[in-house]
Amino acid sequence: MGKNAKILKITINSKKGMNNKKQIPKILETLKKFQRGTRKTNLNREAKEEQNYTPYQTLISCLISLRVKDEASEKISKELFKIAKTPEEILKIPRKKLEKILFSSGYYKNKAKAIRKASSQIIKEYNGFVPHTKEELLTLYGVGPKTANIVLAFSFNQHVIPVDTNVHRVSNRLGWVKTGKLKFEKTEKELEKILPKKYWREINGIFILHGKKICVPISPFCSTCPIREFCKRGGVKKSR
Ligand code: SF4
Repeated sequence: MGKNAKILKITINSKKGMNNKKQIPKILETLKKFQRGTRKTNLNREAKEEQNYTPYQTLISCLISLRVKDEASEKISKELFKIAKTPEEILKIPRKKLEKILFSSGYYKNKAKAIRKASSQIIKEYNGFVPHTKEELLTLYGVGPKTANIVLAFSFNQHVIPVDTNVHRVSNRLGWVKTGKLKFEKTEKELEKILPKKYWREINGIFILHGKKICVPISPFCSTCPIREFCKRGGVKKSR
């Protein structure tokens, strides 16, 4: 197909993109089918009980995963859990050694600090157990809404929507929500109003894969996107 024809097809499809609540299951099921056989992210595979992580391990691997590629964060988490799996064991690791383990995850000093402080709080304030309410999780050093929701969703099976940059971007482009730049919490609240509960935990894994492979931040691959006919392509100025 020629370049102009391709652009025209995308434009027509975008205009066709009636986007209502009823289409949400269809869109998500289309993506799930399209992604069949693709390896999900480290944290999302925990949801499928492949990793068998404890809530503490999920929390720590989530802190490690911030602003680093999934492959690297998985490798580092595994290396760390070979020597320490509990807050007590983590605190026994000398700070310098912990920083060395975390080095390739970027921001390793901040991450080591967060891991040590949160572990110490878990021991002192929560008897060694990761709390299972959002309010309590947010009291832990370094834990923000996304990390809290990942732990609640994947470790405690609670119906929450973990919103990261991919969930935020794809939801806005699809036209499901209209929340400003980096307003992840607003996106979470808006999605809670329209997303059927059965997808609350699942959407994270689905949109992370879609956001990494097709609906990438700059110039998404709209011409090969399996859900382009449903998409309003909100905010997309350039696509492939
Ligand atoms: S790649 Fe993203 S913006 Fe483009 S059609 Fe697909 S979901 Fe919409």
